[in-house]
Amino acid sequence: MCWCADSRRDGGPSRHGRVCHHRSVDRLRRPPPDFRRAEVVAVDRRTPRLVRLTLAGDDLVGFDAPEPAASLRLLLPREGPGTPLELPSWNGNEFRFADDARPPIRTLTPLSPDPEHGRVEVEVVLHGDGALSRWAEAEPLGDEVAVSGPGRGFVPDPEVARLLLVGDESAVPAVGQLLEWLPPAVHVDVVLEVVDDDAEPSLPGRDGTEVVRCVAAPDDPPGAAMLAAMQEQPLIDDVVVWAAGEAAAVQKLRKLLGERGVPRSRTVVRGYWKHGRAGAGS
Ligand SMILES: Cc1cc2nc3c(=O)[nH]c(=O)nc-3n(C[C@H](O)[C@H](O)[C@H](O)COP(=O)(O)OP(=O)(O)OC[C@H]3O[C@@H](n4cnc5c(N)ncnc54)[C@H](O)[C@@H]3O)c2cc1C
Repeated sequence: MCWCADSRRDGGPSRHGRVCHHRSVDRLRRPPPDFRRAEVVAVDRRTPRLVRLTLAGDDLVGFDAPEPAASLRLLLPREGPGTPLELPSWNGNEFRFADDARPPIRTLTPLSPDPEHGRVEVEVVLHGDGALSRWAEAEPLGDEVAVSGPGRGFVPDPEVARLLLVGDESAVPAVGQLLEWLPPAVHVDVVLEVVDDDAEPSLPGRDGTEVVRCVAAPDDPPGAAMLAAMQEQPLIDDVVVWAAGEAAAVQKLRKLLGERGVPRSRTVVRGYWKHGRAGAGS
């Protein structure tokens, strides 16, 4: 059907009496970049809730992600750890397997990309549920996967003097990468919500960085501890805020920042996953 203002759903004349002669347009989405096959060549259990995987393969030669806090899409073995990789097809709107099932594709932060040697690393939160978490929990050395991307990252204005990075465990890889990437002159405050104090993910040491960690209470919705900490967090003029985590929590954070006088133009808020919904960050 035609989407011009003059068209009617039944294809008849518009309310102005004109018949639309525009060519009918199928609303197809441009396919994302091709999947590149890779193998899990190293597994490093960094904490009880975070595992780092190194992916490598000839197809990854040329794969780069120069911006920090960027994204890649990871296609997992269909039947779980140790099973063969099956590539889905693009149906004009999304990837599907031949039997119409949805493939297990999840979004992660590309770390230490090495386009020359065809390597990239990812860190996966072991939250206990979901195709990605269960697969990574099995420490799937030797499994074949496929990678697509990268998606855009976060490159702060070079004039920024003070950044506030806020997130939960899923944002730890991006926060760590930003801490390594930012020029030393930038002061960085970090507010991080973790699920388990003992499984505290380590961030790279950096001068001019202050980290506030808050532990999520078991019965609270995700992000509640982070939001409480953000009520108290000093917000100086001109601070730029980057936040990522559970979608509803970061939307509440966006509202809180507005109420505390931080303009939208100085906030970047990204929903990385949705409470109770599988594959929602992809
Ligand atoms: C740009 C971007 C970058 C990201 N980078 C990373 C990264 O580097 N590392 C990383 O681990 N994640 C990252 N994520 C988040 C990740 O894509 C999601 O958490 C993903 O849904 C996990 O897939 P799963 O198969 O484990 O769980 P799903 O099958 O998607 O979900 C199953 C259940 O688990 C819940 N769930 C999903 N994720 C979490 C979580 N983190 N904590 C608690 N419960 C959860 C869901 O609400 C659902 O109820 C990123 C997301 C985006 C959009």
